[in-house]
Amino acid sequence: MNGMQSKVKIIYFSLRDSKASQIELSRRKFISLSFSAFAIVLLLVSAFLAFSTNFYQDLEISSLAKLNKHLNAQLVGLNNELIQIETRVNDLEREDDELRIIADLPKIDSDTRDVGVGGFTYVNDEMAMDSKDLMQQILGYQQVLDKMERRIRLAQISREQVRNKFGENARVLKHTPSIRPIIDGRIRDKFGMRIHPILDKIRNHPGVDIAAERGTEIFASAAGVVEKVVTKYTLNRGYGKQVIINHGMGLRTRYGHLSKILVTKGEKVHRWQPIGLVGDTGLATGPHLHYEVIKEGKKQDPLRYMLDMD
Ligand SMILES: [Zn+2]
Repeated sequence: MNGMQSKVKIIYFSLRDSKASQIELSRRKFISLSFSAFAIVLLLVSAFLAFSTNFYQDLEISSLAKLNKHLNAQLVGLNNELIQIETRVNDLEREDDELRIIADLPKIDSDTRDVGVGGFTYVNDEMAMDSKDLMQQILGYQQVLDKMERRIRLAQISREQVRNKFGENARVLKHTPSIRPIIDGRIRDKFGMRIHPILDKIRNHPGVDIAAERGTEIFASAAGVVEKVVTKYTLNRGYGKQVIINHGMGLRTRYGHLSKILVTKGEKVHRWQPIGLVGDTGLATGPHLHYEVIKEGKKQDPLRYMLDMD
């Protein structure tokens, strides 16, 4: 090319025979040709760019759609699990309500249990969701899960209360006089005012008299500790040889007129443990057991504490 002239010479070599050839162009023609070439290249590049951008966008959109569908399916899966958990929590609470009734504990109302799901809707396969919907839904799940966790925790606390109450009830039952201390013993004299069989005067009878043969076994009517053992007595006075058992909870039982005592002071006894034998020590017309139930120092009608009576 020679810039000094108004013509441009292009010299090129053939690869086949290494022969030099040349084209001579006017400067103007060369410039216009160069521009055309440049324009074609530009066009090609921009076409390529436009094509590839579209292509990647399409790719992105389709992968986002796939992701969305996948997330939606995941949410539906979560839904179903949540519904199952909620069903179980409902069952747990229903069982808890029943146990509380049996244990004689106050009912936990549904407000306290916070049962309502509160505006949350479970999604399904058909729902089309944008990212805002998705976020909303995920927040909703979080709230539902929090609520479920609170409900389970409350049910656990309640279960503990029921367990304690049952334990307490069992302890109370174990220590409450509830049997007739002599098997097949006949109630001869009841609790309350009566004409005394020996003194022939109206006297209050603070217990029951259960007639049985001398030497018949007498059983502790509940668990407790032997509080008092009386072996020395005056002839024809009082209850003779006697045992007093402290059952706790302010409850005591007294067993009088015994011919023999089988326990010692301070000994722990259980219901149905033999504690002595029937006799007529003290003021008695014949062999029988004088049995008292004392609550907070006050004599009670022992028949009310004989739950095995028919
Ligand atoms: Zn008596």
